[in-house]
Amino acid sequence: MSTRKIGPLNEFNTRNVPVNRRTALAQLSAFAGITALTGQALAAPTQQENNNPTVAARKVRKIATEEAFMIPEVAAAVRDVVRKGGANLDIKLLTTVFDSPASATSQDPSKNPPPVSNRDAGARLLLPNLLDLDKGRLANMDGSGVDMHLLSLGLPGVQLFDADQAVGLARLSNDQLSEAIRRHPTRFAGLACFAPQNPREAVKEMERSVNNLQLNGFLVNSHTGNGYLDEQRFWPILEAAEALGAPLYIHPRAPSDGMAAPFRDYRLEGAIWGYGIEAGTHALRLMLSGVLDRFPKLKIVLGHMGEALPFWLWRLDFMGAPGARAGRGNQLKPSEYFKRNFSITTSGVEDPLALRFCIDKLGIDSVMWAIDYPFQPTAPAVAFIESAPLTDEERAKVAHGNAERIFGITT
Ligand code: MN
Repeated sequence: MSTRKIGPLNEFNTRNVPVNRRTALAQLSAFAGITALTGQALAAPTQQENNNPTVAARKVRKIATEEAFMIPEVAAAVRDVVRKGGANLDIKLLTTVFDSPASATSQDPSKNPPPVSNRDAGARLLLPNLLDLDKGRLANMDGSGVDMHLLSLGLPGVQLFDADQAVGLARLSNDQLSEAIRRHPTRFAGLACFAPQNPREAVKEMERSVNNLQLNGFLVNSHTGNGYLDEQRFWPILEAAEALGAPLYIHPRAPSDGMAAPFRDYRLEGAIWGYGIEAGTHALRLMLSGVLDRFPKLKIVLGHMGEALPFWLWRLDFMGAPGARAGRGNQLKPSEYFKRNFSITTSGVEDPLALRFCIDKLGIDSVMWAIDYPFQPTAPAVAFIESAPLTDEERAKVAHGNAERIFGITT
């Protein structure tokens, strides 16, 4: 395998990415949320792009690792929850996705009132695209050359429901996920959901998902009822994930009630900032509690380029060395946990400098590509991994090799 020489960081944008592609990406990002949703492919590459050695790497196999789906039964139950309202900070976005006037009539979009903005138009397509585990999703993937989606039940999973309902819907969701993978075994792999509300039942479902359904790991949407997985009542879940050798993807949701107040203004609660704070805090609780010393082989995956933690690692180690503060249980430095127990994905952060930093900081075997479909548009995410200034070997690991190893994807 050939290895291209890589220039210094400050040359990335000016030398390796042709100007016309940058312009195209800028135009695409103006329609973020719509371009991907409608399954449109990028415009055909120009001659200049075809001659560019970076873009020539576009044939690399691509497994996207944080790709959301929904089943009708969970969507209906989420709609019931959001109609009751409440202080929960996730309700704002969930209302947009699950209870917009358009989503209620999405089976016949021609009857919907016209959208008031591009973003409004994009939001209307979210639920139909989440529910599509066949033709439309595959067309979107094919339109940009995505080989596989590692699917997971979209936010909020089953974590807003009472325990019995959550247990039943988790089973149903995992069954439907498994059926979709059986229909398209070369295109889909999947992460199971479970109901942390009932840890005993969660463990049973985790075992069924791996042993019977052959799913590739688990995904949890951060806190459950304001509780975090370092709490002892959740330890059976961590123990099961470790024993099954299956990774646990900690996906964001809005900050829990105790830290919600400053995020209530300016729509700070979502992907712009609140999600990362919530998920990053969850990961740090697992490190500093010492629970990872109890479950040393537990594999955790963080999205969104590691929820900013890689950038923070030096300071975390300086302030968070073992024994630095009473009340902490960590036997290792945060960076040591990060390297032993964590890997990250690029979902929603298509920044070549951030990618380079994370690879250099964490190691090439710890970084996986993701789109975050249908919340992020597909084509720019593909352009990002195809044009990022990586060696061929690095690109292959990030685009598919690490996902195959970490999630046990064999098709
Ligand atoms: Mn996501």
